[in-house]
Amino acid sequence: MSSIVTPEFTRGLPKAELHLHIKGTLEPELKLKLAKRNNVDIGQETIEDVQKTYDYHDLASFLAVYYPAMNVLQTEEDFYDLAWAYLTKAAANNVRHVEIFFDPQAHTSRGIPFETVINGLYRATVDARALNVDAHLIMCFLRDFSKESARLTLQEGLKYRDKIIGVGLDSDEHNNPPLKFARQFEDAAAAGLHLTTHCDIDQKDSIEHIRQALEIMEVERLDHGTNIVEDPDLVELVAKRQIGLTSCPLSNGFVSPEMKGEEIISLLKAGAKISINSDDPAYFKGYISDNYYALAQKYQLSQEQIVQLAKNSFESSWISQKQKELYLAEIDSYVAKFSK
Ligand SMILES: [Zn+2]
Repeated sequence: MSSIVTPEFTRGLPKAELHLHIKGTLEPELKLKLAKRNNVDIGQETIEDVQKTYDYHDLASFLAVYYPAMNVLQTEEDFYDLAWAYLTKAAANNVRHVEIFFDPQAHTSRGIPFETVINGLYRATVDARALNVDAHLIMCFLRDFSKESARLTLQEGLKYRDKIIGVGLDSDEHNNPPLKFARQFEDAAAAGLHLTTHCDIDQKDSIEHIRQALEIMEVERLDHGTNIVEDPDLVELVAKRQIGLTSCPLSNGFVSPEMKGEEIISLLKAGAKISINSDDPAYFKGYISDNYYALAQKYQLSQEQIVQLAKNSFESSWISQKQKELYLAEIDSYVAKFSK
């Protein structure tokens, strides 16, 4: 096997994407188009104007740009267009399977009906089969909203149970521990939904939050969660239980001085199911293959390590064992062909 990782190699490598916020895929072009379509004044006229606003140095300043952008999303067609634009990019990155995060509260709180959001997104996931992308939806609760709001959101979401595969937790983690939503997670699990939660990097109580998520709420994956390396006991636990960790190098580089490459490599070596993902690609300047490549470049990862990260993405995805084996075989034949 050749040891040089090229952009072509990372782009063509079959992979699953498990940490992707659909609203974080809103590119300046589409934002302007939707603003025009819906007569929403976003205060910017050109792509350059919009790009200038995509400037932030930490999570709070990022969220301050991120949420107001949602106003351009109004109709089912808008949500369809947003998801479709991402899915065509996913196909170009040879993402074979994707589990997409969406946050109903970011839209219902500004008067957009739940059904408008889910019907638009879901229709795009169905149409993605034509792109050879197997796409699913994970409903996230905004953790800086109340428990009561999460309860109502879950109630609404369960009306569309067949369109959702799991629940997650995202947005501002400061003083919003996973346990705040223990009840909703229990109810979601009882309805047969999978569980994951964000444990963002370098939070005030990172380890405590990771512990709650793993030991009390029994989530199947941690989104980010790389601070776990500070506690070898918890690393052993995720390796043993094969809990997925969905890491996002480029977004890490925006909100901290590092891509958290050392942590990613150490978790990979410990046998944890860590994977590479794009988080909010329109805002962090790179889709999933760019994330693989940036990490490989900066930390001189071998082709074997990159392949292992891609295998981990399928192994920690919410598909059957049989489907996993098919995708893993696809990776092996890709690598064999590429090395010829
Ligand atoms: Zn995220």
